Amino acid sequence: MIGTTKRLITEEKVKNSSCTHCGEENSLMVKVFSKMFMLKVLPFAIGKSTELYCSNCKKAYGPNDTLDPTTKRRIDIIKDDAQHAWFLYIGYAFFALVLLVAIFKDL
Ligand SMILES: [Zn+2]
Repeated sequence: MIGTTKRLITEEKVKNSSCTHCGEENSLMVKVFSKMFMLKVLPFAIGKSTELYCSNCKKAYGPNDTLDPTTKRRIDIIKDDAQHAWFLYIGYAFFALVLLVAIFKDL
């Protein structure tokens, strides 16, 4: 399998925000995903993506939905705090190892 895929890291409530669709307060939920490139069984973490939805009216927010700057900032903080799982770096570690072996095998 070669290609990009994503994996859920966390799902958190966006505090002190309200849904622009139904007006419900503290109902916005954000999902943070690891974006990764898969080379066979080797994962390479390449970034993060987020999905925002309302837990009350089930509206899924897309890039065309406007959010107030405060809500946007809270989402960014949640996104920054979310960490990739350690094994998503295995691809990089594997190639670092191959490189080291290639450098040292002739010494
Ligand atoms: Zn809503």
